[in-house]
Amino acid sequence: MRPETFIDVLQRRLGDPIGISYRLRQSPMRKTWCIEQRVGNANPDGPEDRYHDDAIRAADGYSLVAETYPSSKFKCPGCGFFIELAPLKFKEYQCSYCYSRGEKNLFFLAYYPFCDKLIEHLERTSPKRNHVWMEEQRVKNAQVRASRQRAKMNDIEAILKEHAGGVVGVASTTDVRPW
Ligand SMILES: [Zn+2]
Repeated sequence: MRPETFIDVLQRRLGDPIGISYRLRQSPMRKTWCIEQRVGNANPDGPEDRYHDDAIRAADGYSLVAETYPSSKFKCPGCGFFIELAPLKFKEYQCSYCYSRGEKNLFFLAYYPFCDKLIEHLERTSPKRNHVWMEEQRVKNAQVRASRQRAKMNDIEAILKEHAGGVVGVASTTDVRPW
């Protein structure tokens, strides 16, 4: 989707329910898109630097949530050639041109285009939704506990069945096991 649509959807789905303002800004320094959320008031006396991301965010009262590349082509800082990034995956890339020159230029990169998957990702990792995540974890843990308990009970039942004749004294001529 287009950047404007993306930020609209993000604001509606993640921002509005808990009163957070999101904005999308192109970083002049890193040539990336910055997804930022408002954390305070703008500082009129803040630094006038409009190039460094930290200075811009400090002046505007925003903090960084995520950063994404504008396209799937990443320019290798070693040689200037482009590396094609696989979408929606965080992985390791080695610039093949640098590699052939005997230089190790390894990058760990992820390319998330503006799509539903990115919104879902942000939704999942939003600290404000921690209680939802904790609840999922609690349900999962309860299931694991129940299945372990069931497995133990099965073991106990199996042992009891095996020794049932001896334990309850069922008369059986073949049951001669000492217990
Ligand atoms: Zn390179």
